Amino acid sequence: MYAIWNLTKVCPWDCSFCCMSAIKVGQVDKGENLNFSEKVRVLEILAVHKMKIDFSGGDPLYNPENFAIVEKATEIMSRDFIDVSMTGVDFNERKLALLKKVGKVEISIDNIPEDSNRFRPKGFNLSAINILKTLIEENIFCSAVTTLYPLSADKSNLKRLYEFLCINKVSKWNILRFYPVGRGLKLSNLYIDDKETLELMDFLDSLRGGATEIIFQHSLRILRGEYQCHAAIKSIGILPNGTVTACGWALDKNSNPLPGFCLGKLPEDDFDVILERARVDLGYSERQSYCRILNHLKSQEAI
Ligand code: SF4
Repeated sequence: MYAIWNLTKVCPWDCSFCCMSAIKVGQVDKGENLNFSEKVRVLEILAVHKMKIDFSGGDPLYNPENFAIVEKATEIMSRDFIDVSMTGVDFNERKLALLKKVGKVEISIDNIPEDSNRFRPKGFNLSAINILKTLIEENIFCSAVTTLYPLSADKSNLKRLYEFLCINKVSKWNILRFYPVGRGLKLSNLYIDDKETLELMDFLDSLRGGATEIIFQHSLRILRGEYQCHAAIKSIGILPNGTVTACGWALDKNSNPLPGFCLGKLPEDDFDVILERARVDLGYSERQSYCRILNHLKSQEAI
């Protein structure tokens, strides 16, 4: 089982559809956050339970305290159990040394650097490719992550981006579905329906063969009937205040869990009780053939 642990909402990029409703660096985070010792306790709980952790945010390496949590994870857990999804902004030797210990990293990129995209801040894609190049030179396994919405899912863009990733020897390209969640709730017009998404997947399949492996996120594979929702069965989300969600993306505009997704709170709640309650009381005992987030949004007529 793995946890997507959003250590912070603070991010140097602050994208307009951020599922975490990110807070710009320098802005006051008025929300409740775990303090350092509470984060250490959460980390120890996850380590004892042999959970894999994808450290995310916000940028999990931007703040020294969160950096120290990821560093501590490398000391008490196998690197096979640690992933980092980050921006690469303000990259430095200490971050490089830490990522060498982790061995792998995920960076979002939606377009080749020459193209602008009004839903991403200026410089976003250029910064992404620069940090990918730096990490690849250091033999760190890199995955590029692209979310499908109209400005990224244009076929010409996808083809050029794939060729660009291949030329730059990026090992993996993870393709994600856009969910109108977080502050993206107000951008539901960016959501691409099932039929068009399946066509895009076929198109992406036709690109395969280069140096970069194309991976469809599990919610896309659900569309093809190849997978089932694993919320609270194979994965959970943990928010900056310790709230545990059945799915890391199931967030409202204030980055609180959508109705029915909140499982408990760490470190104060017993983790085994959280998982047992999810299974027995909250209906997460079986996988479903549909994405629970999209099901919820459809029931609310939000998409
Ligand atoms: S709710 Fe959707 S995104 Fe979350 S685990 Fe299930 S399929 Fe994946």
